[in-house]
Amino acid sequence: MKNLIIIFLEGAYSNIKRILFASDRVTDMELRNKILEGKIVPTDKVAEVPCIGCGGCCNACPTDAISMIPIEEPVELMEGLVKRQIPEIDELKCVHCYNCHDFCPLYALFGEAGTIHPNDVGVVESDISKLLEKPVKISDDKIAFIAQFLSDSTIIKKRKD
Ligand code: SF4
Ligand code: SF4
Repeated sequence: MKNLIIIFLEGAYSNIKRILFASDRVTDMELRNKILEGKIVPTDKVAEVPCIGCGGCCNACPTDAISMIPIEEPVELMEGLVKRQIPEIDELKCVHCYNCHDFCPLYALFGEAGTIHPNDVGVVESDISKLLEKPVKISDDKIAFIAQFLSDSTIIKKRKD
């Protein structure tokens, strides 16, 4: 009972403080000012340099929100692997399921930060040429599951039917 009273008093104190001083609304005010000043910069959704352009995210997206865009100058990542395209998210079609991030092979196979994220991909510093030479330490079953999603662009549509 005593604990409940303490929790109640602490809650009431926080709310009064919030109402009187707006003490926890600093971030919102900053955001509001940035919007009013037109200073909001859209966040990056794709880390274009470390992305290997495999198209897996595009295959795994259930709403066709991802298009693969050809790049002007293809990049040879390693022998036999040339990057020719990078993904772009159509935010109007995105339902924030995170499939793209979770099935990105950099994350799914190597446990590194995925190179696509529907909100903000952040800073991705993987050295791709070294990463691709690393052994993959997950089970064959899991590899087969991931490979199925990455290689078959109709799989999610089939699962929905
Ligand atoms: S998070 Fe958005 S872009 Fe990514 S797979 Fe889901 S719907 Fe597609
Ligand atoms: S799955 Fe990852 S590495 Fe492959 S194209 Fe998409 S973002 Fe790039």
